Amino acid sequence: MHDERLARLAEWAAGRPRGPHTLELGLTMACNADCAFCWRQHPDTKLVGGTLTAARWRGILDEAREMDVRYVRVIGEGEPLLPDAPEVLRHVKRLGLRAFLCSNGTLFTRELVQDLVGFGWDWVSLSVEGPDAATHDALVRKSGAFERIVWAAKRFAHVKRALGSDRPGLNFGMALTTRNWRRVPEVLTLAAETGVHAVNLEPITVNSPESTSLKLSAEQARIFVEEVVPRVLEEGRRLGVRSNAGS
Ligand code: SF4
Repeated sequence: MHDERLARLAEWAAGRPRGPHTLELGLTMACNADCAFCWRQHPDTKLVGGTLTAARWRGILDEAREMDVRYVRVIGEGEPLLPDAPEVLRHVKRLGLRAFLCSNGTLFTRELVQDLVGFGWDWVSLSVEGPDAATHDALVRKSGAFERIVWAAKRFAHVKRALGSDRPGLNFGMALTTRNWRRVPEVLTLAAETGVHAVNLEPITVNSPESTSLKLSAEQARIFVEEVVPRVLEEGRRLGVRSNAGS
C-alpha cells in the first residue's frame, strides 16, 4: 500500500500526474446518534440532509476505478449505513477495491453482516466509547446503542467462522474523554470477548461547551500516558488485541 502511494507521488514529482490512490466517501451527514463530542456539535455546522442515489454513488465509484483508485474508505460524516448502503458497498467490492467502513455500529442487520463477509469487505471500524452500556450510551446519547454494537461484533465473528473467512477485520474506535479514559483496558477485554482485533484510540473534536468539558486535563493526560497506556499495552499482549496506545 505505502509503496503504491510513494510510486504515485514520485510520478507526480516527475511531471506525470496520476489519479488518487484512496477515495473517502461520506455517504451522508445525517446520524441516528448524538455524540457529545461529534464534529457536528459545532454551533456553526450546517447539516445538509439527504444523500445521493445509489446509482450516482455507483457512478462515482466507477469513475474512481477508471482513475485507478485502489482503496475506498466509507467514513462517518454521519452514519453511513443508510438503506442504500449495502448496494453501494457491494459495488466497491465488485470493482475489486480494498474497502474500509467506519460505523457507529447500531444499524447492522443479519443480512448486511452476511453480505459484507460474503463479498469480502476488508475492514470494519465500530465506534465504542466505553466497556458498558451506561458509559457508551450516555456519551453517544442513544439508548440501546452499546447492545447493538456488541451484537454486530459477535455476529461478524459468527458469520466469519461459519464461512471460513478472516474478513472483514474488526476494530473498535474509541474517542478518549473525561468519562472513559481509565476504561480502555476494559474495552480491550470487550474486544477479545467479541472477536474484535484492535482498539484505536482517537482524540475528540473540541468545538462546543460540552465537548470542552469532555477534554482530558493536562493532569489526566499525564496519568493516562504514565499509568493507563502501560496497562493497555500489557492487556493487549495478554489478549492478542492490538491498539495504537503506545504510538
Ligand atoms: S456516531 Fe459519529 S457522526 Fe454520529 S453523532 Fe457520533 S460522532 Fe457524530
